[in-house]
This record gives sequence, C-alpha cells and structure tokens, in this order.
Amino acid sequence: MVIDHVTVWGKCLQYIKENLNDQEFKTWFEPIKPIKLFQESLTIQVPNKFFYEWIEENYVSLLKKTVRKEIGEKGRLEYQILLDNHKEAGQRKTTSDKVWMQGDEIKNPFVIPGIKKMKVDPQLSDQYKFENFIEGSCNQLARAAGKAIADNPGKTAFNPLIIFGNVGLGKTHLAQAIGNDIVSKNTAKNVLYVSSERFTNQLIEAIKKNSVSDFMNFYQLIDVLIVDDIQFLAGRKKTQEIFFNIFNQLHQDKKQIILTSDRAPKDMKDMQERLISRFKWGLTADIQVPEFETRLAILEVILEKDNIQMPKDVVEFIAFNIKNNVRELEGVLISMVAQATLNQKEIDIYLAKEVVQNFVNKVDKEVTVESIQKMVADHFKVEVEKLRAKTRKRQVVVARQLSMYLAKNHTKSSLKSIGENFGGRDHSTVIYSCKAVQDMMDTDLNFKDTVADLEKKVQLSISTL
Ligand code: ADP
Ligand code: MG
Repeated sequence: MVIDHVTVWGKCLQYIKENLNDQEFKTWFEPIKPIKLFQESLTIQVPNKFFYEWIEENYVSLLKKTVRKEIGEKGRLEYQILLDNHKEAGQRKTTSDKVWMQGDEIKNPFVIPGIKKMKVDPQLSDQYKFENFIEGSCNQLARAAGKAIADNPGKTAFNPLIIFGNVGLGKTHLAQAIGNDIVSKNTAKNVLYVSSERFTNQLIEAIKKNSVSDFMNFYQLIDVLIVDDIQFLAGRKKTQEIFFNIFNQLHQDKKQIILTSDRAPKDMKDMQERLISRFKWGLTADIQVPEFETRLAILEVILEKDNIQMPKDVVEFIAFNIKNNVRELEGVLISMVAQATLNQKEIDIYLAKEVVQNFVNKVDKEVTVESIQKMVADHFKVEVEKLRAKTRKRQVVVARQLSMYLAKNHTKSSLKSIGENFGGRDHSTVIYSCKAVQDMMDTDLNFKDTVADLEKKVQLSISTL
C-alpha cells in the first residue's frame, strides 16, 4: 500500500484534534501543510520560525506520539519554514530542523589537551542583539551591566553576571546579545553560549566516553562562558561539581561568566551551597515584567522587522492584554498574521480579541458601568465610592458626569440602570450629565482630549478593569 504525505498528515491531524481543544488546533495545526514523506520522515511546512518553536515547546510529545503511531517507531518529523524574518522576496526554505535528535551532538569538538590554539563556534544566534532588545525599567540594570561586560569582559565587578526572571522576559535574548556584542567588538576571543541542559548532556557523554578531563579542558579555554537556565542544574550533583570546578578556574583566570536562571540564587533548591555562594560574587540582576510602553515598543520592533502592517489600536489592544511574557506578545502577532494570511481574515480588533483569548485566561468582553466608573475614578484620582455618593466637589462631579456619559455610549445599560449605579440617581440626572459633558467638550479642548483617551480605553476593554 502506498501512503503519501497528505494521507499520513491527515491521520495525524485526526489524532491531534482529539487531543487538543478547538482553538489550539485551529491556531497551531490548521496552518500546517504536509510537504513530503520520504522514507520514514514526514516534512511539514509551518508559516515561520516562531510557529516552529511554539510547536516544539508545547506540542512535541503529542507530535512524537502521533508520528510514531502513523509512521512507525522510526517515524520522524522535519520542518520547513515558509516565511523567515528577512525581508527577502519570495518564499524560501530555510531549515529542516529535526524535531528530536538522537543524543546531543555538539558542534564544538572537544579539544585535545595541549592544543591551546582553537577557535570556538560561539553557538550564538544573530537574532539576539542589543539593538533589538528594548530597554525599559524592567530590564535596565541587567541591560546596563550587560553592556559594561561586553566592553570589558572579565574585568568588571559583574562576574559572574546572573540574569534572572520569569520565562519569556528576555533572559536568553540579553545573554546572547552580550555574547554577540563581544564577538562583534572582539573584546574577547572565545565566547561560548550553552544551555544547562546541553552542558549536562555533553558531560554525560564525556563520562560515558571516559573523557571528562577533555571536557574540562575545553571549557577552561573559554573566555566568555554563557550558561543559560542554570536552574536545570538543580539536583544534578555530578554536573554541579564539574561546573563548580570550571567556574572556579575561569573566575580565577578573570574570564567572564554569564548565567541566567528563572529564580534568584537564594531560591535555588537542590543546588550546592558553595556554588550558590560563588554566584553571589558578582551581580545578580533581575528582569521584571515589562510595562505597557515597553510592551508596545517591543511589538513595534517586531512589526517593523517582519514588515507587518497593523492598525495602532490593534497593537495597543495586544500590548494591554498580554502582560507577563514577551514571547507571548510575539506569539499573538505571529498567530494573527498566520490566521490572516491562511484563513484570509482582516487584521483587526476582532481577530486580535480572538487570538488574544488563546493566550490569556480572561479578556473582558463586555464593558460594564462598574468598570467605567473604576477607570474614570482612577483617571481623576478620586475614590470610586465618591461617584456613588452625594459629594459636590468639582473633581468628583466631573468624574461622575463623565462616567455616566461613557456608560451611556459604551454599555447596553438603560438610563435608569446607569442612574441606579450612581447611588440611585434617576434617569434625568444621567441625561443632564451627558449634556453637561457634551458642553464641556465643546468649550474645553483639553477635556475633549481626556474624553477621547478614556473612550479609547473603554473600547479596548482592558482586562485589568
Ligand atoms: P527567556 O529566556 O527569559 O525565557 P527570551 O529571551 O527567550 O526569554 O525572550 C522571549 C522572546 O521575547 C524572544 O523572542 C526575545 O527576543 C523577546 N524579547 C524579550 N524581551 C525583549 C525586549 N526587551 N526587547 C525585545 N525583544 C524581547
Ligand atoms: Mg531562555
């Protein structure tokens, strides 16, 4: 029986669909196209690199199971990436990365002891630069320390530099940007970026092959060592021991060490005390969740880089709602573009709402009188209760009238129920308030701007309300 890629992928999809919810399936699997089936390897095409990474990160075990089920134990999956980030014309096949690799082969050959002249491939990705790492108060210290290190690796007080923060906030980006900057300025010779996992796997290989001393020799020749996600070393005694030795040697030789972690050294469990105390020798800088303006700036950079056109209110909507993870900001954009091109949808606020809901648990769908009251009270810095009370203070009166005006125009509530929400006022008060607001807008341009700003916020139905 001859089976082709379309049939096989079709069957895979059936299985995947049974195991995912509708939205996930639609967002991440419908856009995939089967390309070919050669021997036991199925090639699928994804719209871009992010897509590939997202699938890898979130669905790899499901895919693995599915492919093995349909193709057999040796079944493998390869990716082809349709659009890449460069603005080159046409479509280009960029990669056919394998989803899972047998073992972990390293590019850097272990160096034979005694041979000191070698050039290491730094294993850096050139997409992570300082230039495209947006600065905000959330990352200021870490970024500044990184810059200083790049100019003088090993010679600042920031050794080691430990960058810590939650997932998706730019630790890897920043650590690699430092490495790339050093390479381009040539301020140090051998730069090496390695994930803790890879470091561990290399060590395990070396133990198997009885070549631990080669392994150590190799690492001791590095001038700038960047180890990503050191929290993965938790509980790995042997790896920690070897890492401790390498660390000491490099530090003593004034070589630069940069580490990232999803938690502060003091919160690292199952990590040797002596290693943690070494981490405290240098600088520990955290990266926080970016503030709204920073999120907006990050989105704008991505849009420009990928040459995507998107209305401003849509971009703002995304920045308002996706708060905790920069990777998700990118994810929303990419997923919107994928939906727009593949399902021929308009890139507008409706599509944004649809996509954003896949990423966050709750987006307010309806604006309520209460949410408007809270927003306006915040804006005028008055207590929200005052809007419902009898206060006649000017500031409160304006806030109250404006809240009524917005409630009338942006909710489905009747005049009567709006009035009730303001401490049992009647519907004629609401009508009067709306008229008063209109009059003020006609005479006071500043006030008009304020109203426009608030109306925009209401339309975005910010989820924090
Ligand atoms: P982490 O390693 O902390 O999990 P990453 O460094 O992988 O996070 O960042 C996730 C994504 O967000 C990456 O694509 C990265 O380029 C992007 N990113 C994070 N922070 C910023 C920033 N300040 N400016 C621009 N892009 C950022
Ligand atoms: Mg990372």
